[in-house]
Amino acid sequence: MKLKVIALVVAIALLEACSQVPLTGRSQLSLVDEGQMLSLAQSSYTDFLKENKVVSSTNKDAAYVKKVGNNLIEAVKTFMNQKGYGDQIKDYKWEVNLVESKELNAWCMPGGKIVVYTGILPVAKDEAGLATVMGHEIAHAIARHGAERMSQQMAMEYGAAIGSAATSKNAQYQSVFNQLYGVGAPIVMLKYGRNQESEADRLGLTFMAIAGYDPNKAIDFWQRMSTSSQGQQKPPEWLSTHPSDETRIAGIQKYLPEALEYYKKK
Ligand SMILES: [Zn+2]
Repeated sequence: MKLKVIALVVAIALLEACSQVPLTGRSQLSLVDEGQMLSLAQSSYTDFLKENKVVSSTNKDAAYVKKVGNNLIEAVKTFMNQKGYGDQIKDYKWEVNLVESKELNAWCMPGGKIVVYTGILPVAKDEAGLATVMGHEIAHAIARHGAERMSQQMAMEYGAAIGSAATSKNAQYQSVFNQLYGVGAPIVMLKYGRNQESEADRLGLTFMAIAGYDPNKAIDFWQRMSTSSQGQQKPPEWLSTHPSDETRIAGIQKYLPEALEYYKKK
């Protein structure tokens, strides 16, 4: 009986705690307060910049990464305002940095903190390629995939004890955040789910199209990524099972017409 009551309480809490992803309309579990998420992200981002070699903004590669990043940020703002989701990113403090590392990686933390690793630049090859990967990463943040993963983890770990007196909600947030983002380890190792990956591909294509980059080029980028990362240890973000390269490219082909509509309007 007691278990049933707990299950019911959790079910009600979960029903009340759903939000919708812009563009796809998918409803997602949302137990994590956005303000909390932004402050956790901000502090681990600050630590990350201290511990890693940030390429000076006077460097031409860094300037190039910032330029593409800013084009995408403007596109995201336009898109969110047009769709009536402008409020969701009003507290974002966007930042774009290039970091010295051989890894084929890039990420965007909640709150708009974008990092590109120098190792991915040759694979990105040109502005459209870079816009593909950056658009994809920004999309994970916009769709609140990190908060969603945290919510799922919170529900699993604490259930009805979320925010109980024994462990404060803040302590629970911090613990789950550290687990998922691998804070302390080589940071931001969050592994997304398959549906989140395809959602990020779809939103990312739209963002690059609005920013003025031909979304067809996304396919070339993922093909280069697939060959370049063979034999290399892939960061969790690109693990071949999440999804396979072929599945990803097939998904992108499906979403291309939608993104091309935005591209044509430019
Ligand atoms: Zn991803």
